[in-house]
Amino acid sequence: MLFFSRYGYGAQAASHLRDHFGNVSVRNVGSVGGNLWMRHAHPDFASDLYVVLEALGARVGVRGADSAETEVYDLGQWLGVDMEKKVILFVYLPALTSQHVFM
Ligand SMILES: Cc1cc2nc3c(=O)[nH]c(=O)nc-3n(C[C@H](O)[C@H](O)[C@H](O)COP(=O)(O)OP(=O)(O)OC[C@H]3O[C@@H](n4cnc5c(N)ncnc54)[C@H](O)[C@@H]3O)c2cc1C
Repeated sequence: MLFFSRYGYGAQAASHLRDHFGNVSVRNVGSVGGNLWMRHAHPDFASDLYVVLEALGARVGVRGADSAETEVYDLGQWLGVDMEKKVILFVYLPALTSQHVFM
């Protein structure tokens, strides 16, 4: 139960993205990695996903083609990382308490 309560924000975040992120066609073909990459490559790209993930305190795991190590960054920090020959492997969503309120 504790695990699920710590991710209670998930329903609200999903609802926000469903109602405000592009349209059905865009949501069906767009990817998490592709959308974040667009934000990384084009600072003026208004990524709805990036805004939600940054508000949640999400982190990204990145691996380079020549590296066996996965580097983990806060989203804001990741914007400054050279992504040449690197991929986003995962997005880490933090467990939050019910004290966190998103409006
Ligand atoms: C009509 C339209 C409306 C849109 N409206 C919105 C909107 O309202 N809000 C919003 O946020 N976005 C919107 N978008 C953007 C859309 O959601 C996509 O995220 C964006 O077009 C990128 O497409 P994609 O996700 O299919 O990524 P792709 O085109 O598949 O990839 C884009 C780039 O990201 C790279 N990439 C993909 N995955 C990874 C990874 N894991 N690691 C590293 N690099 C990676 C690819 O190599 C490529 O260079 C809209 C797009 C369109 C065309």
